[in-house]
Amino acid sequence: MPRDLSHFVSGAHAPGRSGQFGDVFDPNTGEVQARVPLADRREVEAAIASAAAAQPGWAATNPQKRARVLMKFLELANAEMDPLARLLSSEHGKTIPDARGDIQRGLEVVEFALGIPHLLKGEFSEGAGPGIDVHSIRQPLGVVAGITPFNFPAMIPLWKIGPALACGNSFVLKPSERNPSVPLRIAELFLEAGLPPGVLNVVNGGREAVEALLEDPRVQAVGFVGSSPIAQYIYETCAKHGKRAQCFGGAKNHALIMPDADLDQAVDGLIGAAYGSAGERCMALSVAVPVGQATAEALMARLVPRVEALKVGLSSDDQADYGPLVTGEALARVRRYIDIGLEEGAALAVDGRDFRMQGHEHGFFIGGCLFDHVTPSMRIYREEIFGPVLSVVRADSYEEALRLPSEHAYGNGVAIFTRDGKVARDFASRVAVGMVGINVPVPVPIAYHTFGGWKASGFGDLNQHGPDSIRFYTRTKTVTSRWFTAASENAFVLPTMD
Ligand code: NAD
Repeated sequence: MPRDLSHFVSGAHAPGRSGQFGDVFDPNTGEVQARVPLADRREVEAAIASAAAAQPGWAATNPQKRARVLMKFLELANAEMDPLARLLSSEHGKTIPDARGDIQRGLEVVEFALGIPHLLKGEFSEGAGPGIDVHSIRQPLGVVAGITPFNFPAMIPLWKIGPALACGNSFVLKPSERNPSVPLRIAELFLEAGLPPGVLNVVNGGREAVEALLEDPRVQAVGFVGSSPIAQYIYETCAKHGKRAQCFGGAKNHALIMPDADLDQAVDGLIGAAYGSAGERCMALSVAVPVGQATAEALMARLVPRVEALKVGLSSDDQADYGPLVTGEALARVRRYIDIGLEEGAALAVDGRDFRMQGHEHGFFIGGCLFDHVTPSMRIYREEIFGPVLSVVRADSYEEALRLPSEHAYGNGVAIFTRDGKVARDFASRVAVGMVGINVPVPVPIAYHTFGGWKASGFGDLNQHGPDSIRFYTRTKTVTSRWFTAASENAFVLPTMD
């Protein structure tokens, strides 16, 4: 019998009252392991009310004390790393080492937010006029919301929660309904770390819950991560309701392989980046672009045996390269794209569709797939597949290869493999993509830089984590003050332009 999960409001678990539930699967067996309540509008409003009530007290807690709560949370989460990783893996299907990475990259942003007393320091201009000083301060927004995807159930909520709480906001998180258990545990750990009840709330749900968050005037800002059509819809709806929004979408990340690249290193990078976590990463490499036919032939000769040798396994198998996809729906979608690729005339150099996990025939597994001779007009090139499928698009020249990611609708990440610094530098400067790796296949920036894609991969004008996150979760107030002195008494005006 699947267990029932809950919401987390005002520092306590709250059972679902809407009567609506979603299924949380064990991707290894295909069985439903839990039911997640899908909140209705009233339940979301209760979570927002709890956040609104708790926010002023939290904002009045000085930043150093807020940072200490984050520090205690880090200590608790690190002590619980193994069980957290197992829980995450059991609902997502990624391997335990991948799940640890998911948590670790999230915790690093909480570590970044520990510097909040310094990060919140404002600006001061002395003597802007006679007896006049101007200073600016950063204040929290109030109640903010996060709506997050299934593929990083720890990292992405933490990218939002860490900076938002550090800045003095309260938070309502609507995690993915596919794997809500780790976000719920994160909320419990924050409470245990000393966060006052109501400052962090988790409501589970689908579209109705999201709409309630977007339309409620008490919610000041929304941070979204997920697929591009939903990202655009959330961005537009937030604009309509006068809310600040940053909405990150899907991706089609290319890797250029130059003729001078170290091919063994490039292939190692491609295998991990294209097939790790079953390709369910927004920074997964899904397109390889060898430059020149000789490079293409040499690359394919190395790639094919490596893809054939990939070890697909249970998510609990430490030796597995990757585990099952998250749901049967996700698996069906990936299989559909393989059919589309074949219909479009791409060459399926490695076909993983027949893979079956012995004893787990109903699990959501698929073997690694590799397409060659993919062209830019094909749907398997234009659209995000989000599975263990790599497409090879052959380019005759560097300029042709550079145009591919630059002209693609998505613009999240991109990589180049080369030994030529001049080419690498030119590429980093000219490519129209938000995050660039030079001999780095998955260029996820470290916590104190910012993360964000361009074009259909990101709607809004500030990135996640790093200094942008502090700007996103605060608003600036500028104070002009005048203190009369004998010297300033006769001068009433600020300096003008003339
Ligand atoms: P998704 O868009 O299906 O869901 C994301 C969130 O939106 C979930 O919380 C979901 O409940 C909610 N949602 C879904 N449909 C909705 C609707 N019609 N109205 C309102 N809310 C809705 O995405 P997913 O499948 O969970 O995640 C995978 C996607 O996320 C991929 O496209 C991936 O590239 C993208 N992603 C992007 C980044 C990034 O930083 N750019 C990071 C991770 C994942």
